[in-house]
Amino acid sequence: MIHHILFDLDNTLYSIHTDVEDIFLRRLKEYISSWLGITWEECEPSWRAGLKTYGTTLEWLIEEKGFTAKEEYYAYIHPESETDSLKANPELRRFIESLPCRSSILTNSPSFHAERVIKKLELEGVFQNMFTIEEHGLKGKPHASFYYRALDCLGLKPEEALFIDDIPRYVESSFRSLMRSWVYQVYLSSSSKSSPLPPIAM
Ligand SMILES: [Mg+2]
Repeated sequence: MIHHILFDLDNTLYSIHTDVEDIFLRRLKEYISSWLGITWEECEPSWRAGLKTYGTTLEWLIEEKGFTAKEEYYAYIHPESETDSLKANPELRRFIESLPCRSSILTNSPSFHAERVIKKLELEGVFQNMFTIEEHGLKGKPHASFYYRALDCLGLKPEEALFIDDIPRYVESSFRSLMRSWVYQVYLSSSSKSSPLPPIAM
């Protein structure tokens, strides 16, 4: 039986069709290119290989490039204006509050960004916990320990949680840790009135 739902944050609680992802990726590329002192075209193959080996760009930079300026990196890739296009989503709020169990956030983003997104969507108070990457030594999804830490904090067995994320790799990893999981790219983040929110069978 499902006792708790763990939602991803970015491109899960809001649509990938907003410009949040575009801003994030543009600034990420700018920062990495500048820091490494090479063009993005020169950097991209190494970055893509790094993402396959590690969970996040920051983990790759730390492990392979000796990077240490974590706060500066996060501040650059998550500027205050990044969520300007996000709007309150009362339909999503009603949907999550109507679920027959509590929900939490499990995100590879830093806390200040997660709180900014939650505030813009007007979802404050909806989630029981917010599990962010910096609380776990910057080793987030797909590291199994990140999922287990959240489960331990919530006092849950893996089979008692449902995990929802837009990235298949992260869902596959949670599946290996015996959690029930969904990959979705449409439902919760849909801004279309014609795409109803899905029922959840517990
Ligand atoms: Mg996501």
